[in-house]
Amino acid sequence: MSTASTTAQSTLKAEELARYSRHIVLPEVGREGQERLSRSKVLIVGAGGLGSPAALYLAAAGVGELGLVDFDRVEEHNLQRQILHGTAEIGTPKVESARRRLSDLNPHVLVRPHGEGVSTENSTALFSQYDLIVDGSDNFPTRYLNNDSAFFAAKPLVYGSIFRFEGQVSVFHPSHGSPCYRCLFPTPPEPGRIPNCAEAGVFGALPGVIGSMQAMEAIKFLLGIGKPLLGRLLVFDALGMTSRVINLKKDPSCPLCGEDPRITDIRPERYDFTCSAEEAAGETTSDAPALPLELSVEEARERLGQASENFFVLDVREPYETEICRLPGAIPIPMRQISAQTTALPGDKPILVYCHHGMRSLHVVKFLRDRGFPQACNLQGGIDAWARKCDPEMPRY
Ligand SMILES: [Zn+2]
Repeated sequence: MSTASTTAQSTLKAEELARYSRHIVLPEVGREGQERLSRSKVLIVGAGGLGSPAALYLAAAGVGELGLVDFDRVEEHNLQRQILHGTAEIGTPKVESARRRLSDLNPHVLVRPHGEGVSTENSTALFSQYDLIVDGSDNFPTRYLNNDSAFFAAKPLVYGSIFRFEGQVSVFHPSHGSPCYRCLFPTPPEPGRIPNCAEAGVFGALPGVIGSMQAMEAIKFLLGIGKPLLGRLLVFDALGMTSRVINLKKDPSCPLCGEDPRITDIRPERYDFTCSAEEAAGETTSDAPALPLELSVEEARERLGQASENFFVLDVREPYETEICRLPGAIPIPMRQISAQTTALPGDKPILVYCHHGMRSLHVVKFLRDRGFPQACNLQGGIDAWARKCDPEMPRY
């Protein structure tokens, strides 16, 4: 039934015209745009928190072919946010549960389950079969693998990530001149140095917002309408209900898409999933006592109060943000400039990194730890938590 809608010359049947009438009536979509969607093939990596809303909206919108990659089974604790799945599906492979739900939502969509998951063996060939990739992964190795595989397959990648109450969205398409994920963060963090969602917690509706934005960016891109998030990172803060857009630049020294790339193929050792948190922790050989990955604002205040000169305080927010408020003695270097300015940082003392809510700075901390700054440490909750708990006089935004 659905094969007809995925052939190059597809025309919409009467029942499809009725189904998509609210789309078709939009001049920016129209019948032509809707037919273009029905000829499109999108691959979603991860049928979890981000993949759920992304898949639901892409299927509902009439994307002709939807690939879903996930090797997990539905578990009860997924259901707090992974709205693609239901209680009756607990124990079922996520791609099967997703296929049933999406086929019911829109029988005109061909759903292709890839229950083997994404791996270094299959990623590039798999990505090559689709027009666009949506990254709904929840861990760094997969995120880097998706980024690199999309680059080698020359496919646009709609990136999304969430952490606690913050989410990020962007579109990477380096083979067409825009930056990639490695332009921001050239190498992955060590395993065990970043809390995963299980440790950090996930605010249930947040992946709903971010995954829906990913679906929207994917549909815009397929239709060629509006302004995609190419070269721009949208940062959404659920607690403050604010969002801002950070301009990203392609990094000429990017190991993947730069002028003299070091990464020229997909090799398993670059995406090593096997190292345990204990092994990673054991690599710290410095005599200095290891700093935790993050400090609460209360802990940070105490440590700074004892010996502020022993800390290098790094503010990675944008200049307009540092004008609103900042911590005393903090050195401002926006996140996007960190990779070019690591020489400005001390290698021998703790670096306390902060941003607005603690997500950008956590990225920077893992990047710095990876680059020989083992004492880089994140201010949990950012300057906003500081203002709330330590300095009520400080302006908030
Ligand atoms: Zn790049």
